[in-house]
Amino acid sequence: MLATVYLNGEYLPAEQARLHVSDLSILRGYGVFDYFRIVDGHPRFVDDHLHRFRNSADGLHLPLPLDDAGLRGVITELVARNDMDAGGIRCVLTGGYADDGYTPASPNLLVLPYGFTPPAEHYYEEGCAAMLHPYERQLPRVKSIDYIEGIRIQPLLRERGAQYPLYVDRSGNVRESDRSNFFIVAGGTLVTPVDDVLLGVTRKHLLALATKLGIPVEERPVPTDELLAADEAIICSSIKGPMPIGRVDGQPIGGGGAGAVTRRLMAAWRAYTQESPAGA
Ligand SMILES: *Cc1c(COP(=O)(O)O)cnc(C)c1O
Repeated sequence: MLATVYLNGEYLPAEQARLHVSDLSILRGYGVFDYFRIVDGHPRFVDDHLHRFRNSADGLHLPLPLDDAGLRGVITELVARNDMDAGGIRCVLTGGYADDGYTPASPNLLVLPYGFTPPAEHYYEEGCAAMLHPYERQLPRVKSIDYIEGIRIQPLLRERGAQYPLYVDRSGNVRESDRSNFFIVAGGTLVTPVDDVLLGVTRKHLLALATKLGIPVEERPVPTDELLAADEAIICSSIKGPMPIGRVDGQPIGGGGAGAVTRRLMAAWRAYTQESPAGA
């Protein structure tokens, strides 16, 4: 975390920013967040992220104490105070302090700046290794602070030599990764689930780019068998951008590295995000 953070109306040195032990995020895991990158001193796709942050807060019936202009002001101030050029910002809204340990009263708003380290370059050539894992996020449209399953299975991922899980739902469809959306390329068509997944901002812009490139897009469930037989597979997030999946449970997907459609999308993504770093 960088030196100066925002907490409930104040800019504070990070080591002095504290929540009381009665906060519902600590006692009950109740809270939401959003994360976006700072590129050339500007927040990327900030309107999309603030919109989703508000949706997530609504999903947990937590009132956001600032409007979008107010939030944007805080972000600008943090970028200036921390002299940020490249980095990331995490906005967090917690359930707030609860005397009875259960009832939300007044949420706490934190805006936390970070440095940015991109994933290792080789993943964009060879693809990452993914592991199928049965799990459904509780409130799929809400970016809640609950990453219990993703964090809990870290030793399992290490044991299997995988970097990321792919969550498989009760119907046997692959929905998403722990912090990324998920796509396959089958017969030249880009396919991605839309029901019961977090609607990623990267996902949204990547689908628009694919359409611009003339790549057909389908939003529908992706059965596990279809993934294993796919020509290519991709995960994407604000941190990763589009990243090829090389193997799933040790089995290569297509040629096992970045396929032709994935390469086109990665190149288009680079050009798109370099042209307008803040996402216009
Ligand atoms: C944050 C997140 C994503 C990625 O969303 P972006 O807006 O592209 O960063 C996807 N899935 C889950 C579960 C997430 O938490």
